[in-house]
Amino acid sequence: AHSANQIAAGEVVERPASVVKELVENSIDAGAKHIDISIEGNGVPLIRVRDDGCGIGTKDLPLAVIRHATSKITTIEDLDHLQTLGFRGEALPSIASVSRLQISSRPADEVAGLSLTLNDAGQGEYEEIGCPIGTAVTVRDLFFNTPARLKFLKSTPTEFGLISDTIGRIALAHPEIAFSLTHPSQVVLQTTGRGDLLEAIAAVLGHTIARQLLPITARHEKWQLEGYISPPNLVRSSKQSQYFMLNGRTVRSSILSRALTEGYHTLIPVKLHPIVVLHLTVSPGDYDVNVHPTKMDVRFKEEQALSQFIKEAVYQTLLNSKP
Ligand code: ADP
Ligand code: MG
Repeated sequence: AHSANQIAAGEVVERPASVVKELVENSIDAGAKHIDISIEGNGVPLIRVRDDGCGIGTKDLPLAVIRHATSKITTIEDLDHLQTLGFRGEALPSIASVSRLQISSRPADEVAGLSLTLNDAGQGEYEEIGCPIGTAVTVRDLFFNTPARLKFLKSTPTEFGLISDTIGRIALAHPEIAFSLTHPSQVVLQTTGRGDLLEAIAAVLGHTIARQLLPITARHEKWQLEGYISPPNLVRSSKQSQYFMLNGRTVRSSILSRALTEGYHTLIPVKLHPIVVLHLTVSPGDYDVNVHPTKMDVRFKEEQALSQFIKEAVYQTLLNSKP
């Protein structure tokens, strides 16, 4: 089973940032209001994600590291009404197969917590412990048994940069959750969780940028757009600072990105890009998601009309902001 998990891990766990993403998404699925992430070095020595979510019960803890034992989906129809970020039950088993994993958890209705430590053979050792309500997942020595993966990793600043970008993206998708990122003892990113998007933007992109952004909102019978865009004089040489959220999930979408660029058309030179944080609400029947383990590919039913809607919203916002 360990080797099947390692093959699956090749898809899910490409680098430390992908481990962080999976763990944090599990915390979100667990209804956490506070999520604290600690990293050592490039993430290989240590990744720890601790949350105050629903916790994992004593009976469920052994299942959490078994492939496809997820409790989040019960029927295939559920796939169409997916509320949670994870549903394959692959992440934890995959991570477990390429690292030294420990999970400590305590649901609200238990007086004590339980910790599960997986040994190198993949066997679990359990111990009752005192711990706060919620879950802490600790990943040590990532890729210790897959040297090829280890060799493929970039420098510590690059790998940590990817981790911090991942957290930033997720924090912008969830202003209602308080995130902190510590590396190794210094807090490098912290959001309040008060639900205010601009406040989250200030924490992730900095106050100087947040202060200059223009609020954008637009409604259509089918779609709703809400967020912030930069004025044409505040641009970047990459699309790195463009954040799209579809119904609360972070997505990458060339359709959305192109519509945006078109909204700015004559105002910005071709090689420069605005800073954008957009939450788009679309009813579930109006788009398809092909949920690959590592990326989300979105297809919209009325792509043309949606593009036009976004383009128009951007254009109007820029027009109204002119002094
Ligand atoms: P998936 O998220 O696809 O269900 P994972 O492998 O990511 O699968 O997680 C396996 C299971 O472990 C989850 O379905 C959930 O029941 C449990 N779990 C993992 N992380 C947490 C957490 N932080 N809080 C509560 N439950 C968790
Ligand atoms: Mg998951």
